[in-house]
Amino acid sequence: MSSETQTPDPADTTTIEGPPERAKRVPTEAPFRDVMHGDARWEIPVHDHGFVALVDSMPRLVPEGQTADSAIVQAARVSYGAGTKKVNEDRGLIRYLLRHRHTTPFEMVEFKFHIAMPIFVARQWIRHRTANVNEYSARYSIVPDRFYRPSIENVRKQSTSNRQGGDESIEVGTAEEFLKLLEDSEALYERYLSLTEKGVAREIARAALPVSVFTEWYWKCDLHNILHFLSLRMDEHAQIEIRDYATAMYDLIKGIVPLSCEAFEDYRINAMQLTGLEIEALRSGKPLASSNKRENAEWEAKRKQLGLD
Ligand SMILES: Cc1cc2nc3c(=O)[nH]c(=O)nc-3n(C[C@H](O)[C@H](O)[C@H](O)COP(=O)(O)OP(=O)(O)OC[C@H]3O[C@@H](n4cnc5c(N)ncnc54)[C@H](O)[C@@H]3O)c2cc1C
Repeated sequence: MSSETQTPDPADTTTIEGPPERAKRVPTEAPFRDVMHGDARWEIPVHDHGFVALVDSMPRLVPEGQTADSAIVQAARVSYGAGTKKVNEDRGLIRYLLRHRHTTPFEMVEFKFHIAMPIFVARQWIRHRTANVNEYSARYSIVPDRFYRPSIENVRKQSTSNRQGGDESIEVGTAEEFLKLLEDSEALYERYLSLTEKGVAREIARAALPVSVFTEWYWKCDLHNILHFLSLRMDEHAQIEIRDYATAMYDLIKGIVPLSCEAFEDYRINAMQLTGLEIEALRSGKPLASSNKRENAEWEAKRKQLGLD
């Protein structure tokens, strides 16, 4: 290696500038701490090949002794005045905002994730339109050799009560037959690869791959819409595979916005909505004034949850 000093190419250097001279600088009240503890990412594996990784947070830096919930409180104070300052007052304000669906302060916090999931999960996920997404391009690159295969216990029987779902495991022989079908579909990968090597364009060759193959994306979303996503996708009505991802996502953000998550659990996840008919049945002690089978079953489930049966 030459000992000569090389003049750096101006194209390779970036000048780090300070604030513009005409900006008034306000120092922080307390030293900042990084909500991700100085780490580049926090990654939770999901199934055999998937993961949810938190790669950034806004705010990333918060005053010592506070959490990222402080960005919600800061924004809310624009509308409610600078009345609250202590953590317990912040907690009360956040709980009030969430209870009363005053949602925009929750949009002041954002999280960015890197996620790897099977395409059939991605199809459900992409329906959540309020996120910013950038996905791996199977036109530009070869699809990696990764496929989702459930455990044998997780090959579920078609539910008879819920046409969209599966419930308990199917008997072992049929489960094994299904896993063999998945194995056969994965074997298409070698043919996909060899045909791309023969010159078939990647954008059309991928049509031969099953929806159990993995994709990846960066997914950035604000906290209000993340909580909406989680309330739908951590719910027992969501397919177990996407629920596993949603739960991993929730675990990643819980420690960063603990006050919001506590309120979310109290007022959304563990809460219950009663219909007008249900309130009337409760008040009168009479059966639900509806002959609809599903509505009656839902009322029965709620009564059970309330300890009324
Ligand atoms: C258990 C379950 C089963 C499902 N089954 C099916 C199914 O069989 N078929 C199917 O097609 N989908 C199905 N879905 C998807 C579902 O219908 C929604 O598309 C999905 O959950 C996204 O919900 P969202 O629109 O509220 O969320 P987001 O897209 O994240 O939007 C959040 C909120 O922003 C607002 N918003 C966003 N974009 C718009 C817009 N363009 N116009 C107006 N308001 C907007 C809405 O208030 C919305 O609630 C299912 C979802 C679940 C959880």
